Order: sequence, then structure tokens, then C-alpha cells
Amino acid sequence: MDTLTLVVVLAVLGLFVVVGAGLALVGRRRPSSGPVLDVRAPEAAQAPYAPEAPPTVEALAPVAGRMARLRSRLRGSQALGTGLLGLLSRERLDDAAWEEVEEVLITADVGVGPTRELVERLRTRVAGAGRRDPDVVRALLREELLALVGPDVDRSLRTATVPDGADGEKGVRPAVVLVVGVNGTGKTTTVGKLARVLVADGRTVLLGAADTFRAAAADQLQTWGDRVGAPVVRGPEAGDSASVAFDAVRQGAQGGYDVVLVDTAGRLQNKVGLMEELGKVKRVIEKQGPVDEVLLVLDATTGQNGLVQARVFADVVSVTGIVLTKLDGTAKGGIVLAVQRELGVPVKLVGLGEGPDDLAPFDPEVFVDALLGD
Ligand code: GDP
Repeated sequence: MDTLTLVVVLAVLGLFVVVGAGLALVGRRRPSSGPVLDVRAPEAAQAPYAPEAPPTVEALAPVAGRMARLRSRLRGSQALGTGLLGLLSRERLDDAAWEEVEEVLITADVGVGPTRELVERLRTRVAGAGRRDPDVVRALLREELLALVGPDVDRSLRTATVPDGADGEKGVRPAVVLVVGVNGTGKTTTVGKLARVLVADGRTVLLGAADTFRAAAADQLQTWGDRVGAPVVRGPEAGDSASVAFDAVRQGAQGGYDVVLVDTAGRLQNKVGLMEELGKVKRVIEKQGPVDEVLLVLDATTGQNGLVQARVFADVVSVTGIVLTKLDGTAKGGIVLAVQRELGVPVKLVGLGEGPDDLAPFDPEVFVDALLGD
């Protein structure tokens, strides 16, 4: 190899070394020179700020503490409290005075049976206490009213999904809640409010518009459902309510929903028709599995009439809980005691107004304090 060839070979080798080192240097620097993994599409990175679409589900008021609203909404509740306490602190508590106490309680819809029981116990305790200062009397009255309401009764709603033996031990089916009551009592509104409560609690809810007799009922339910993102299963107008209920429960199971709430029709003017229809709705649902909760909706402002309705419904379906609506529009909160006694079923929820979040789990202590006007 002559000198010229050697120089050329060395020059080429040198060039390789310089280019190679340069490339290696560039390669090593790349990570620190900027993000290596930038998955953003250039347009996305450049896109102007756009606010997110409004959420389907509206903001919901917390469920806890809602019952406290009763205090300001139970019309004239103080009248019951002050009336009773005034009578009980009289100089002479004779038979006539106790009869007046009874009257006050009966006028507040407490019902004859519970009133007699309450007065009997109070008479004994007031006599035993020996003193009748307002604090003592109030405490006794509060205790006795509370005992009648039943502070330890299980008022929970059976709305948790239920293990379903049908497709293996791991399967679950939605809890099925049937909502019954006379039209106008606030059934559809209650279904809507309850859906909100459940959705707020993280459950998925499907609504069944089985009140096919009232033309607007399905639309009304649809509006409630849309507001919380709960789909509604509907049927043709004046169609078969049992088949809508059946479809709702089936779709609820197929769609993996947690709860299916079924609204029903309640035309009380025809008891036989009502029995047949409601009975059929329940039987048809039960072809797929049990109904977990049957909520009877009663309008608190109808007083003793509500009790008559309650009896009719209890004859048709086994009611597991009572929803007392419109408690905000009455001074007669005593209906809570009467209806529980009548049906042997607890009041589980109360309606406290027309607002979407005016449905509260029933709290006996708050209720008694509201009655007494605390
Ligand atoms: P349904 O026929 O039983 O389904 O009764 P709706 O749900 O249509 O209610 C009848 C009326 O009662 C509507 O105007 C509701 O806004 C009203 N309502 C329902 N619940 C309450 C409540 O707790 N308080 C008050 N003040 N009104 C209520």
C-alpha cells in the first residue's frame, strides 16, 4: 500500500469516527431536549380551551340531614307541641284535662289506638314523676312519642343488588322496587326523587313506567329519568302495565342495573280492577324473581282517608314500606303513627316538598322534635 492510499484510508476511517461520534452525541441528547413521548395530536395540543359538556346528572343535595327541613315545613307543628305541653302543665291534671290531651292528639291524626296508648302511659309516668315542670313533662312526652314511632325499627330500603342463584353463585340481579299508591298522592314524583337519591349514591337505576293509564305519567317519569341519567322503559299508552313492568325488570337484569324502580297506576275508584291490575303486575314481575320492596305512597294531607287507601293496597300487595308525601303541607304529622300502626309497616321515606331533593329518609327523632316544635 503506497502512502497516498494509506492517507485516503485513514481519512475515510477518521470521517466515520467523527460522524459516528457526532450521531451518538445527538442520540444521547434527545431525551433531555424535549418530551420523547408526546402522544398529543398536534391539533389537540393546539385546540383552544372548550368547556366540557354539562354533566347529565344534576347536582344533588346530600341525603343526610334532609329530614331537618321538616321542622320548618310541618305547618303549625308547634301548635301540637305547645297545645299538649300547655295542657300537661296545668295546675290540675284531672280526667277532663287528659281527655283534652286525647283530643289534641286525635286532631293531629295520631289515631285513636295510638292516642289511648300514649295517654295511658303518660298518665302513669306523669303521676310517677311527682313534678310537672315543663322540662320534665316535655321529656316524658318526647320519650313516649318516640317510643310510639319506633326509634329502632329497620327503615332501610332494600335497594342493594341481590345474589342471583339462577346463573351461578356469583351472579347478581337488580333490586326491584314497586311503587304503589292512589294517583295524585305523589307516586311518580317519589319514583323520580328516589332515583336521584340512588344515583347520587352511585347506583345505576332503570325506571319502569307501568302507570300506563295516566297519559302524562310516562313523560313525567322520563323527565325525572333524563335529569339523572336513568333510562325509562315505557309501553304504549293505555297498554298493559304488567308487561311494561316485566320488560323493565328484564331489561334491568340484562343491562346489569343495580335497581329497577317501577311506577304503577292507582285508580282507587275501582277496587276490584285495582286488585287485579296490581296483583298481576306483581305476579308477572315475580316470574323473573322476587320484588324486594313494595313502597306504598300516601298523601299526608288526606289524613284518615289515607288510612282507608292503605288498607286497600295492603290487601292487594304486601307493602314493605310507606312513603308519606306532602308532610310539608300539613299540621297533622300524627298520621305517621297511625299508618304505621294500621299496617304494621314502617314509614321509610317522607316527602317534604315539590323540589327534586325534597325526599328524606324518615328519622323518628327529628320527626318527634318537629312535632313538638323544638
Ligand atoms: P301520582 O299521580 O301519584 O304519580 O302523583 P304525582 O307524582 O304526579 O304528584 C302529584 C302532585 O303532588 C304533584 O304536583 C307533585 O309535585 C306533588 N307532590 C308530590 N310529593 C310532594 C311532597 O312531598 N310535597 C308537596 N308539597 N307536593 C308533592
